[in-house]
Parts: sequence; C-alpha cells; structure tokens
Amino acid sequence: MAKIAFFSTQPYDQQFFENAKGNHHFEYFESRLRPQTVNLTNGFDGVCVFVNDRINSDTLRLLSEAEVRLVALRCAGFNNVDLRAAKENNIRIMRVPAYSPEAVAEHALALIMTQARKTHKAYNRVRDGNFSLVRLTGFNIYKKTVGVIGTGQIGKAFCNIMTGMGANVVAYDKFPSDEMKKKGVIYKSLNEVFSESDILSLHCPLTPETHHIINKESLSMMKKGAMLVNTSRGKLVDTLAVIEALKEETLGSLAIDVYEEEEKLFFRDLSEQIIRDDQISRLMIFPNVLITAHQGFFTKESLEQIANTTIKNIEDYLAKKPSDNEVSCELIKDCP
Ligand code: NAD
Repeated sequence: MAKIAFFSTQPYDQQFFENAKGNHHFEYFESRLRPQTVNLTNGFDGVCVFVNDRINSDTLRLLSEAEVRLVALRCAGFNNVDLRAAKENNIRIMRVPAYSPEAVAEHALALIMTQARKTHKAYNRVRDGNFSLVRLTGFNIYKKTVGVIGTGQIGKAFCNIMTGMGANVVAYDKFPSDEMKKKGVIYKSLNEVFSESDILSLHCPLTPETHHIINKESLSMMKKGAMLVNTSRGKLVDTLAVIEALKEETLGSLAIDVYEEEEKLFFRDLSEQIIRDDQISRLMIFPNVLITAHQGFFTKESLEQIANTTIKNIEDYLAKKPSDNEVSCELIKDCP
C-alpha cells in the first residue's frame, strides 16, 4: 500500500484514479507542486504530478528532506523535471510514456481540419441564422505537404493519419524511424522541413535543443501562408516571433494546444477574471489562430490508461523493480 499526494488535480483525475486505486491511499491537492507546496507531502511515500508542476532542484531537495522518493508523472513529457537533481537526491522519476498517442495525434488533426475548413466559424454562423458561405473557403489536405518534427509515438500516429489522407509527409527526427520510411514518410533536414511544409506539426519533446525551435529565423524559412500546429509543448515556439509573423501575414494560420506561459492560465476557469498575459490575449484576437487549453491527451481512453500505468509505476517503485517507464539521465537517449 502506498500513500501518494496528487498535485494539480482536477475532478476528472480523481474520478479515474479512484476507480483504479485498489488499496492505495491517494490524497488530492489542487495546487501545483513547487518548492512552496512541498510541505503538503509530509508523511507520503511519493507524489503524482502533471505537466505544469515544477520539479526543479529546490523542489527535489525539499522532497528528499521530507523522505519522498518517488515522483510519478501522470504524463509523457518530463521537461519540467530536473533529472540531474533527481539523481543527486535519490528520487525515482516515473512517467506514462504512451497513453494513447492517437489521442494527441487526433487532436492535432481536429485543429488542422478546423483551421482548414473553418468549422468553428460555420458553427457560429449557422446558429445565428447565417447560411452564407462567404469567407468560409477552405483547402484540401490531400496532396499538401505536411511537415512533422519528432516522429516518436505521437508523431508516428500523426504521420499515419496524414499519409492516410493522401498528404505528402516530410519529417525531421534525430532518430528517423524505418517503420515510418516504409509507410512513405520522407526524412529531410530540419530546414527543408521548415521550407517545404504547407502544414507544420510539432511532436518533439521540449529540451534545451528544441526550446524555441520555432523562432524568427525558422518562421522566415516557412512558406507564405503555411499553418503551424503545436500540440507538444508551448516553449517549442517563440510566441512573440509567431505574433510578428501573423501580423506580417507570412504565417497563414496557427493552431495550438499548448502555450509558452500556460502554467498560469490553463486548466482553470478564468472567464470572470482579467487575463494579464498580453501575448495570449493578442493571439486570441487573430481570426486565423485557434487555441485549445492542453486537451490533446483528454480522452476517456487516455485517462484510463494514465491511471492504470501510474498505479503500475507506483507498484514497481514499491517492489523496487526496474521499469521501462523510469526516466533518468542514464536511461534516456538524450539527457537534457
Ligand atoms: P516520444 O518520446 O515517443 O517521441 C519524441 C520524438 O521526438 C522521438 O522520436 C525523438 O527522437 C524526437 N526528438 C527528440 N529530440 C528531437 C529534436 N531535437 N528534433 C526532432 N526530434 C526530436 O514522445 P511522444 O509520446 O510522441 O510525445 C511527444 C511530445 O508530445 C511529448 O514530449 C509532450 O511534450 C507532448 N505531449 C502533449 C500532449 C497534449 O496533451 N497536448 C500529450 C502528451 C504528450
């Protein structure tokens, strides 16, 4: 039996984890885990955290002092964890590496189709009794060149959807996949992917190397009118550079499920509050920008898988078993 403190929890987390918890004791806190909230972990064996909890060296040192030796991430990305500090403090980091890559890939498709066919605008028009098609002209995905950066689990699922739709898929990954090559994906240099894509979709993790991979220079290489899609991590994109490209009308459209400064905004209802983030406020008023609030993972199938894998990770930790779901500088290919 493990005692685990959950951070950044929402009612849906509790629902899926309570269904799967067996005899473990779980306590749910709404607050994010960061140095100021580590005091909530006294007496727990481990913590369970999400994408915007801050597992930096201070948090890890304080967790170690509280004798908490497990950080179970209920997500795939681990860019918010200082892996070197985890090692120094003897804390194991487990994650859910794949919990339905199709969920995120299908969300990227939803964003692309919404932008390509303007269904969000058509929905509002028809509800308002406006049946005009003026300014709703869309475009086909068929035969477009779709660029994919990162062909891991989600990137692969996304490539499969795009090749299925008859798009030409070009990709960049530090470790190209033979499986994808056999399916018709053509690997190119990063600059070629930037310059050839009609639609560019990001599926690589956030690392020091990929931070602001979309910046003024890469945007200047992109085709005029191209669509940029980010369902991976907000900090892959330099938001100010993207705003400039949208204002100059070189970038054709933007669809994002993640945002550079999402920590202070996402997963909360701020509809009655003043949004003080001027960059997201600017993005929100472009007619060719579509924003969802980090819901790529958010399907019933994913939530069940996340709960089951996290509980298996906790049990492997209790049994002191090695696990493929552990992340550490020794175990991953490319330690940040
Ligand atoms: P993965 O580890 O299976 O794949 C990542 C791929 O990126 C790998 O093939 C890797 O070689 C490649 N890569 C690493 N560094 C690169 C670089 N510098 N340039 C190009 N490619 C590089 O991960 P995944 O499960 O496919 O997830 C990808 C990302 O999606 C996660 O890191 C996370 O940030 C994001 N994600 C978002 C959501 C959401 O709800 N929107 C949900 C899950 C994951």
